Amino acid sequence: MMIMAGRQQNPRIVMVRYGELFLKSDPVKYHFIGILLRNIRRALEAAGHSCTFESPRGRIFVAGKKPEEIAAIISRVFGIVDVSICTRVDSTPEALRDAAVSLALSRLHPPCRFAVRAKRQSKTGMNSQQLGEYVGSAIYDAIPGLSVDLSDPEYELFVEVRDCGGLVYDARIPAPGGLPWGSQGKVLGLLSSGIDSPVASWLAMKRGCEVSHLHMDGGRWAGGDVRETAIENHRRLSLWCPGADLQMIIADTEPFYDRMQELRIPARLRCVLCKRFMLRAAGSLCGREGARAILTGENLGQVASQTLANLAVISDATPVPVLRPLITYDKAETVTLARKIETFVEKQGDLACRAVPRMPATAATSLAVKECETTLGIDELLDTVLSRVRYVTARNGKIL
Ligand code: ATP
Ligand code: MG
Repeated sequence: MMIMAGRQQNPRIVMVRYGELFLKSDPVKYHFIGILLRNIRRALEAAGHSCTFESPRGRIFVAGKKPEEIAAIISRVFGIVDVSICTRVDSTPEALRDAAVSLALSRLHPPCRFAVRAKRQSKTGMNSQQLGEYVGSAIYDAIPGLSVDLSDPEYELFVEVRDCGGLVYDARIPAPGGLPWGSQGKVLGLLSSGIDSPVASWLAMKRGCEVSHLHMDGGRWAGGDVRETAIENHRRLSLWCPGADLQMIIADTEPFYDRMQELRIPARLRCVLCKRFMLRAAGSLCGREGARAILTGENLGQVASQTLANLAVISDATPVPVLRPLITYDKAETVTLARKIETFVEKQGDLACRAVPRMPATAATSLAVKECETTLGIDELLDTVLSRVRYVTARNGKIL
């Protein structure tokens, strides 16, 4: 079977399907659809597309000059399940038949097993099965050598009769699903140079969170490529909120590690102290940034600081809720997702933390940790670190 790009005469529009929003009550659904429409518009405007929009029941239609480009941009918008480039015609069986034959002629070369799937919003005229047969037999007659196969077709063509007209298409481009970006409020994501935290950010974005990032820059205590790799993670994640500004705060954390060394804090407690300091900083910044939760890529049992005992002591550093979407993931599952969403950085440079001890504590006690923090003068350290932050904005895969 050969598939070729075809020329269409009827107007082509992009049809957007949203998934879970259907389950909401009407007022909530309309609120979410409003946010979704705003996100779609923003993504398209940022890429220079001027489009018109319709949102009849259950779908969004986008009309613009380059449907392929529009569909590619929209397929990165959270809340959308898939998109199709459709030929729009009158909703009569004859108009649907002609458009379907024209599309099939441009795409299909026999021998090929094909199926027509029909759907109708209104209940008048032919039923769906009759409509499918009517259109299918017209294609069968127009292109000799085809065979109909409804259970295992090589090519599927869809016809839909909707209140807003007839639609013909043959592909569903998958989109990430989830909820519209921003519909669940804001979270502050602790973003490192690693593989996990960008995936955690993506998962929170997918569930409708507007994410801002915080990177704790360890200076000479961090590997030479850590800061740039964290910024690269941030840049790549901005491709998942197209058109929106993704903010990152970078905090100079060198004084914290210097002070731990200077005051001879027990090395085995460093990792837990370090993560508690990160949460403290994030917790303070949440207030400033209007974020309601902190997000991390922490994962049960991945490293010494991520035992259940240590996670409890770490969480206790801040009253702000800590979201850990990867808590139960295997590393291999995280890596697979990181590759799929294109946050996986192939070239891993010098990312080793210079402060990690040889034998980190796996069950630090709250008492021991708090004593160290008193010795460190943790509140004053926090003020110092938070007074030296800078902002990095990314949009559409570019650092601004
Ligand atoms: P990742 O877990 O993202 O792959 P990692 O392995 O370097 O990075 P861990 O020691 O596993 O980091 O840290 C657990 C979590 O703490 C990270 O997922 C991230 O959310 C946060 N984190 C670690 N280092 C930093 C940093 N320098 N700045 C901001 N957040 C950090
Ligand atoms: Mg990790």
